[in-house]
Amino acid sequence: MGDLNEGKHSEECGVFAIVGHPDASLICYYGLYALQHRGQESAGISVTQGNRIHTVKGTGLVSEVFTKEDVLGTVGNAALGHVRYSITGEGGIEDSQPITVKMWQGQMAFAHNGNLVNARTLRADLERSGSIFQTTSDCEVIPHLMARTEQSDPFKAFTSISHMIMGAYSLCILTPQGVIAAKDPNGFRPLCLGELDGAYIVCSETCALDAVGAEFIRELDPGETIFIPTPDSKNSRCSLNPRVISSCKNACRAHPSLCVFEFIYFARPDSDIYGVNVHAARKALGRRLAQKDECEVDLVTGVPDSSISAATGYAEEADIPYEMGLVKNRYIGRTFITPGQSVREIGVKIKLNPLKRVIAGNRVLMVDDSIVRGTTSKYIVNLFRAAGAKEVHVRITSPPYRFPCYYGIDTSSKGELIASNRSEEEIREAIGADSLRFLEVKDLEEILGEKVGTLCTACFTGQYPVPVVDMVKPGRIE
Ligand code: AMP
Repeated sequence: MGDLNEGKHSEECGVFAIVGHPDASLICYYGLYALQHRGQESAGISVTQGNRIHTVKGTGLVSEVFTKEDVLGTVGNAALGHVRYSITGEGGIEDSQPITVKMWQGQMAFAHNGNLVNARTLRADLERSGSIFQTTSDCEVIPHLMARTEQSDPFKAFTSISHMIMGAYSLCILTPQGVIAAKDPNGFRPLCLGELDGAYIVCSETCALDAVGAEFIRELDPGETIFIPTPDSKNSRCSLNPRVISSCKNACRAHPSLCVFEFIYFARPDSDIYGVNVHAARKALGRRLAQKDECEVDLVTGVPDSSISAATGYAEEADIPYEMGLVKNRYIGRTFITPGQSVREIGVKIKLNPLKRVIAGNRVLMVDDSIVRGTTSKYIVNLFRAAGAKEVHVRITSPPYRFPCYYGIDTSSKGELIASNRSEEEIREAIGADSLRFLEVKDLEEILGEKVGTLCTACFTGQYPVPVVDMVKPGRIE
């Protein structure tokens, strides 16, 4: 099964676009800082002043990629930024985004979050009829498809091809006339609209709006495409009034299924998605775990950072003291992005250190948001035992992660998922815990679904809301 994801460029990324601000480049840069948790592999910013687009991108963190000159020296009133987190393998600097292209409709920059499930098929067709690709990113099929339309208006060109692209995309396109922003009909990934001093912002998470002092306007609807013209746009190619946001909704295709993992793990706790605060949601998941549990322990602890909210929820509900059991080194990226299992294990070791004085002699209940390969849980259970814990109980605020994600979350192939072919008892044994409990899909649906609508839970159930066109070959998924 290890080859299921060969050539797959899954990208759980962050996008930030701003239109109509004299300091567009600087604001975009700060916006990307706030989205850094969504991708640490590469970062890029494209800026325009209504003519040509200037792009700076590179591998590494936002703080490493851009110089002061890049940010302050690039004049423009519209900018598009991206942070990228890709699967291992191909995808170096040439795959970092924004991807800038010169098309007959004008110069444009593309940045997206998600994964198109039919990009390989589309690309093969396009290549057969002469298209030459510059990257291995799934996103690059979009400009190629747009260039083949007869629409000179980029907004119309995109909306006329959007039915051809399948899967997850929260996409922004920077054109000299303004920004096009689109969410796939399932709305797998978040994308919201905000306002700052009369300028509009489109970004992956509300925490980036807060970071730059912008007001949240609304989340884009699944299947919605908007166009935000630049104030000085002559709209020579766009038949739209300046400063009026045009929206086009494909209601018949809309079939909302927001990725539940955004709440479980990805999004920052200070972000809201469809009005639901991520920290509050995680706390509620932790409470639910406690409601279903009767574990006698001395303290509850969470795996920083993503599980602290859930652990405090558990502790409050169970009336057991919450303690800081682990200290996270904040100056390294996420270990998941490191290729190869042995190197990944070293990554975990550098990342977390137990507080021996808290742990020693105690029965510890550790809350984490997920078990994917099992590396983290196994390692932390061992750490706690080595630090003198009498017992280590593990509680997970999601169900067993059994199926790969094809909509943009990096979980690699099914064979690597510890839960793909193990019972809960076998997983407990594999990670060495005294006890192990998970939440069920219905818990997630009850806690989150009511507020945010239907959720994509394919990683737990194997029920994929959009057919995985490029991957489904007889016998391969199972
Ligand atoms: P693993 O060690 O492979 O079982 O991964 C589970 C741990 O990684 C948990 O502590 C999660 O907080 C975190 N995690 C879950 N999903 C991801 C992901 N897609 N990328 C990075 N880290 C993740």
